[in-house]
Amino acid sequence: MSEEPAPWASSVARARIAEVAAALDGLAPERVTETVRDALRDHARRFDAEGIVLYAGTNVMSPAARSVSEPLVSSRPSMGWPGEKYQSGLDALDTLEVLTPKLIAGLVGARFAEVRSHSATMANLAVYTALTAPGDTIAVLPERAGGHTSHHAVGAPGVRGLRVVDLPYDVDAYDVDLDALPGFLAAERPRLVVIGASLLLFPHRVAEIAAAVADAGAVLLYDASHMAGLVAAGRFQRPLAEGAQVLTFSTYKSFGGPPGGVIATDDPALAERLSAAVFPGLTANYDAGRLAPLAVTAAEIMADGGAYADACVAAARALAAALQDEGFTVAGADRGFTDSHHVAVDAAALGGGSAAMGRLAEAGVYLSAIGLPWQAPGEPDRGLRLGTQEVVRRGFTPDDLKVTARLMADVLLRGADPATVREAAAGLRQEIAAR
Ligand SMILES: *Cc1c(COP(=O)(O)O)cnc(C)c1O
Repeated sequence: MSEEPAPWASSVARARIAEVAAALDGLAPERVTETVRDALRDHARRFDAEGIVLYAGTNVMSPAARSVSEPLVSSRPSMGWPGEKYQSGLDALDTLEVLTPKLIAGLVGARFAEVRSHSATMANLAVYTALTAPGDTIAVLPERAGGHTSHHAVGAPGVRGLRVVDLPYDVDAYDVDLDALPGFLAAERPRLVVIGASLLLFPHRVAEIAAAVADAGAVLLYDASHMAGLVAAGRFQRPLAEGAQVLTFSTYKSFGGPPGGVIATDDPALAERLSAAVFPGLTANYDAGRLAPLAVTAAEIMADGGAYADACVAAARALAAALQDEGFTVAGADRGFTDSHHVAVDAAALGGGSAAMGRLAEAGVYLSAIGLPWQAPGEPDRGLRLGTQEVVRRGFTPDDLKVTARLMADVLLRGADPATVREAAAGLRQEIAAR
C-alpha cells in the first residue's frame, strides 16, 4: 500500500497499524464491503455474544432506541433552528428538535438543554468557548483522580488556549480538597472550575465546592459524562440543584443512548451563550438522526422510575464485594466500595492497570486501566475501572457477577489459561441470554 499512515504514532500503535495494513494490502474495491462485514461480525461476536463488558464508558441502546435509529436521517444535513432551517423540508424533524432537549432538560433538572454537540468533548469545548477567553485559567481534577482529557491541556482546553491547573485533591475523601480550595482559587483565579470525573465512586460535595467557586467569582461545570444515567434517574447526585451552574455529559455511557453530548443549565443568560457556542459556533449541520434514539432513551429513563440506575449501583456493590472476596484490592472498601455503577481495583500488585487489562481481554473480559488518586506522580495507571451499566442491561444478576469476579481472579490471581477463561465467559453470556 502507500505511505505509512501515522509515522508519528507510538511504536505500539505503528506496529499494530502495520500488521493490519499488511493484511489489507492489495484489497480490491469489490472486496471492501465483505471485509467491512467480516470486521463488524467479529466485533459483534466479541461484545454482543461472547465477552463480558465491564468497560465503564459504554452501553447498549435499548431495542426501542435502536428501532428508531435511522442512518438516512443522520446523513441528511440539518442546520439551524426549527422554522428557519438553511434547508427546506425538514419540518418533520422539528418534533425531535423540540421534544429531545425538553425531555433531557426535565431529566437533569435544568431549564435548558443543548443536545446538538456530537460528543461530550465538543460540549466541553463549547463551554470553554462560551465562558472563557484564550489565556484564561481553568481548574480541573488531576488526571490521577479521573480528570478527563477534555479537561486537560492536551485536549479541548488546549484548543481554546487555556491555562489548566489541577484542583487540590483529598485522597481520603475521594473529592476536591475543601480546606485547600478557597486559598487555591484565590491564588489561581480560574474562570471556570470543572468537576465530574471519569472514575467517580462517591458523589462530589457539590454544594461546598460551588460556594467556594462562587466566592471566587468563577463558574462551576459538572461533567457528568459517566454519571448521566444515574443523575437523570435522580440517583447519585443532582449537580445543578446542588449548585453547579453548567452540566455536560456523554449520552452513550450510563445514559444508554446514541453517541453525543449535552450541555444543560438553569441560567438563561448562560444558556444563550452556551447554545451559540454549539450553533453556529462549533457545529453547522449536525446529526439529527441521534435525536430519535436519544428521546426514546430519555423517555425510558423517566418510565422506569430509577430501577435501572438502582440495579447498576447494586450490581457494582455486589461485584466489588465479590472481587474483594476473591482477593483483589478494591477501592473504597471502608465506604461500601461505591455509590455509583463504578468499581475501582488497585492493580499495582498485578503489574499495573494496563497489563491487567490486557490479560483480562485475552480472557474475554473487557474494561480499562485508570489512574488512581493515590498513585505516585509519573506512575503508570495503577487501577482497573469497572462499570456495571452494560452487564445490567445484558441481564447479569449479582450471582452472575460473583462468577465474573471468579473468572477475573482465575486469570489475574490464579494464573489460569486465558483461553479457558474466555470459553467460560462466553458460556456465562450464553446462559444469561437463554434465560
Ligand atoms: C468520556 C468522557 C468525556 C468524553 O465524552 P465523549 O462523548 O466521548 O467526547 C468527557 N468527560 C468525561 C468526564 C468523560 O468521562
